[in-house]
Amino acid sequence: MSGARGENWRGGRIGILGGTFDPPHGGHVRMAAAARTVLGLEHVFFSPAPHPPHKNAEPVTAWEHRRAMTAAALEGESGMSVTDIESASGPSYTVELLRSASRATAADLYFILGADSMAQLASWREPEEILRLCTLVVFPRDDRAVRLPVPGPASLVVFEAPRVDVSSTEIRAAFTAGAPVAGAVPDAVAAYIGRNGLYRRS
Ligand code: ATP
Repeated sequence: MSGARGENWRGGRIGILGGTFDPPHGGHVRMAAAARTVLGLEHVFFSPAPHPPHKNAEPVTAWEHRRAMTAAALEGESGMSVTDIESASGPSYTVELLRSASRATAADLYFILGADSMAQLASWREPEEILRLCTLVVFPRDDRAVRLPVPGPASLVVFEAPRVDVSSTEIRAAFTAGAPVAGAVPDAVAAYIGRNGLYRRS
């Protein structure tokens, strides 16, 4: 069994962090690192959604840039990499990501998300199927209560820490304003953004 070409999905427990990653930031990396260590995950795959269905209102940076920035964010991190397993055609639904992953591996899947995303779960496509396909691993965000917004049975792991108060929205705004981002994004991501002129005022 294998995922997208060249990816190694072998293992007992594999983590997946799906997102828009526009841009990826330290919060994403710290969540994945904590989940990996505490839950004994062999690997965490970051999957930049080609067409994020929840972000229709605003334009999203091209997938190629978001993918490259995510790869840059994970340089030097052990046990984490980008996956190309999501289909580039049609909206990027988490249930389809998990279906593709479960075809790629016999490992137990751990889907990592923030409490803000968890609160939206009922509006996602096939939420009950999502609960069947993976264990949800939820990280705190913005003082949001963590509750399962769809009927279980569910496997759920709730982390109380780390709490990292950073968002891609704030980071984009800071780059647009030319304000310092002081450690909010990995250096390689900041360099990529600068080199490619991303988030500049148009
Ligand atoms: P935006 O500000 O554009 O909405 P974001 O910072 O939420 O972006 P995404 O790529 O949309 O970043 O997030 C991917 C996943 O990571 C989501 O499940 C989100 O809840 C979670 N996440 C992102 N940042 C944090 C954070 N600081 N703490 C906890 N969870 C986070």
